[in-house]
Amino acid sequence: MSPPAPHIHPQRDDPDQPARSRSGANRPSRAAGREQTAGQAQADNRVKAAVRKQATDREQAADRERATGREQAADRERAAGQAQADNRVKAAIREQAAALGFDALGIARAETLENHQPLLSAYLEKGHHGKMGYMARHFDKRLDPRLLLKGARSVIVAAHNYYPAVGQAEGTSYRIARYAYGQDYHRVIKDKLHKLAQAVEEIAGKHTCRVFTDSAPVLEKAWAEWAGLGKTGKNTCFIIPRKGSYLFLGEIITTMDLAPDEAFEKDLCGHCRRCMDACPTQAITDAGQLDARRCLSYLTIELKDRIPDEFRAKSRGWVFGCDICQEVCPHNRFAAPSNEKAFRPITAVAEWTDKEWEEMDRERFNRHIRKAGSPLGRITYDKMMDNIRCAAESRR
Ligand code: SF4
Ligand code: SF4
Repeated sequence: MSPPAPHIHPQRDDPDQPARSRSGANRPSRAAGREQTAGQAQADNRVKAAVRKQATDREQAADRERATGREQAADRERAAGQAQADNRVKAAIREQAAALGFDALGIARAETLENHQPLLSAYLEKGHHGKMGYMARHFDKRLDPRLLLKGARSVIVAAHNYYPAVGQAEGTSYRIARYAYGQDYHRVIKDKLHKLAQAVEEIAGKHTCRVFTDSAPVLEKAWAEWAGLGKTGKNTCFIIPRKGSYLFLGEIITTMDLAPDEAFEKDLCGHCRRCMDACPTQAITDAGQLDARRCLSYLTIELKDRIPDEFRAKSRGWVFGCDICQEVCPHNRFAAPSNEKAFRPITAVAEWTDKEWEEMDRERFNRHIRKAGSPLGRITYDKMMDNIRCAAESRR
């Protein structure tokens, strides 16, 4: 028989202890019930408030998202409108450039050519510029067009084909670089650049500008790359795809803020090294590295003195400049004759025989070369005659 269960009395002296029924089951008092109901109501209210807050937060977030979306759409619309306006301006400038005879045009932002600083320094340190002292001058200006024109914002680069439709006289063995067949390009291209600058003003508004073509401390080929026109080849000539390298470059540095084109990044040479192998004086010391002191263009034009003995047997008939590294370049299979009348060969270039070149006196040099506006007039009569003797020696 199990022992009787102990009789338990409610703990009346403990106010927190709920009263117990006689049966022993818990049963809240009325006050406790009211308290519980109030607590429950408070909890319910808190939940409702939290739910309402969440809903408000969601609405506000959605409002913000819609506002941001509207702003972004407006930004996109503005950008698209600006891009369309920029493209219209560029198309109009290109159209004018084409009407003036330019074959390509690009635009770069007028900023410092930082990437070219070490290249230029190395070139000068090696002394590859020879006696072209002007190359070492205005180092900073070469790298920053804003030092050439205060407030410069853009560099417009234009390329003009000069590949001649007709060559030198049949049977002439004294060779002249093609760029020098006709009138001096400095004058011809500068004249066109001034006209283009005027057209830019008519198209896009007033601006201050300076124009250059191979005439000032401007790294033309670097700007042409930045303006997206093409790339400098291993022979250091500037190549435009499907046009070749028989091109003059000209620049308009302007205060006008024009939308820049994308820089040209692609290498156009690959594994080819025809120019390096064909150079008779090994002047291309590495891809894109030219030791001007060995180059026939320098030796026959820039060097004021007699061509040194080391190179006399290697001039291969060139008396003014040299085109060998362009002639072998596969990109020049695209070279098409230029329509520019000013670049048609002057009489001396088109008609003179070897004998006429050899017997040319000062009077004929002045009359047929200098007065004809030929770039050949950049060198002295004595220099020209030494070049002719050197070319004759190289044939023996
Ligand atoms: S211009 Fe003539 S000499 Fe000069 S790098 Fe070209 S091939 Fe050589
Ligand atoms: S000949 Fe070949 S390596 Fe030289 S510039 Fe032309 S593509 Fe480049």
